[in-house]
Amino acid sequence: MEKTDVAIVGAGPVGLTLALALGRAGVNVVVVERDAEINLSPRAMVYLHPLLPDLDRLGLVAGMLKRGFRDDEGLNLHLASTGEVISIPNTALDGIDPFPFNIHLGQGEYCSLVAELLADLDNVDVRSNSEVVTIDDQEATATVHLQVKGVSQALEARYVVGADGGHSVVRASIGASLEGTTWGERFVATNVRFDFRSRGFKSSNMYIDPEIGCIIAQITPDGLWRCTYQESLELPESTVADRIPQHFDRLLGADASVELVDFRPYRMHQRLSSSLRSGHVVLAGDAAHLTNPTGGLGLTTGLYDVLLLEEVLLAVLRGEAGDELLDRYAEERSRVFSHVSSPNATYFKTLVYDTTDPAVVDAQVQPFRDAAKTLEGQRAFLSGLDMVRSPSLTGAHS
Ligand SMILES: Cc1cc2nc3c(=O)[nH]c(=O)nc-3n(C[C@H](O)[C@H](O)[C@H](O)COP(=O)(O)OP(=O)(O)OC[C@H]3O[C@@H](n4cnc5c(N)ncnc54)[C@H](O)[C@@H]3O)c2cc1C
Repeated sequence: MEKTDVAIVGAGPVGLTLALALGRAGVNVVVVERDAEINLSPRAMVYLHPLLPDLDRLGLVAGMLKRGFRDDEGLNLHLASTGEVISIPNTALDGIDPFPFNIHLGQGEYCSLVAELLADLDNVDVRSNSEVVTIDDQEATATVHLQVKGVSQALEARYVVGADGGHSVVRASIGASLEGTTWGERFVATNVRFDFRSRGFKSSNMYIDPEIGCIIAQITPDGLWRCTYQESLELPESTVADRIPQHFDRLLGADASVELVDFRPYRMHQRLSSSLRSGHVVLAGDAAHLTNPTGGLGLTTGLYDVLLLEEVLLAVLRGEAGDELLDRYAEERSRVFSHVSSPNATYFKTLVYDTTDPAVVDAQVQPFRDAAKTLEGQRAFLSGLDMVRSPSLTGAHS
């Protein structure tokens, strides 16, 4: 049977980034991906400034800036009821942060970039059309059972990482379940062409309104934007496309000419896997936890999983630590999701879409107003965006 050090299930952003981190450290990695090609549908697109030194270490930032664009404008809250705009620009970090900006880049483009870098590594093999059916965990290794174009195959690995998304087969194979709640609305992510700047929007905006609340963010320098809004689940999913023009009519006026490029309706969850580790199998990214994307903490949390898992797996594979360190990874990333990512994403979703009382909205945005007033306040807020990072478990980064 074929053998490798680490088998990663799923060539999404989490699986590919982990493959790059481990591959660059000399680990033999096989990534198995069910689909034939990288998923280019509208999904995550903002990479926050505290993550950029890590992505730069992996050789990604230059390519990301080439394919996407640099956002110096930071957070912008628009209160629809009053017209107030509260801005906390990334320029507050100029001179004190090596990367005083966020990067906007579609998740599919990010994956294509990582896949290109992986193609140069002889010790990493990314295989498409390879669907994992189950994992068989044994005393010293785990066996990944695959279907490759209808043919059964098996791969033995010292460790298996499930980065296979929300419907994770790897999670099911370790007997874990997703616990938490599913929101009672549908999100609709649209990619559109429209000059949102002509209406006072900046690179990244939360438009707060209980009727037409939305997230508006620029995807490319040449004018592709993301607008994500929510609608009632009582409306049929089959007619989402028919209703998209109504959203833009209400947001921008019927005279606005918005070109719809792509869209994707989806359900949102606040859910955490009951376990992130069993034997030689570990979970990361959406396989481990699911959050609504308001505030951009979905993929961000997954990429911070990668940073800790990189450190932990390297220590274990090199014999510098026992594999109980994987339990500490599992506990720590569960803690971050439960106590940081999920509550913050819930707070932002409720603020942007669900709060009907203007006095409550006013009170909720007051901390942002206060932070926006001074350079020190802006810096403190922007530094706080590193809250989903875990401390080092081996002392490697302390
Ligand atoms: C419409 C939409 C909009 C979003 N917007 C945002 C946003 O603005 N900000 C944000 O932070 N997050 C956002 N998210 C969430 C973000 O996209 C996810 O957090 C991110 O994709 C997680 O990456 P991942 O690599 O863990 O999983 P995925 O991207 O889901 O990748 C999993 C991969 O595993 C593969 N796979 C699955 N099963 C198997 C199997 N059995 N065998 C082999 N391969 C398998 C899949 O084909 C896929 O390629 C959004 C999600 C959606 C759906």
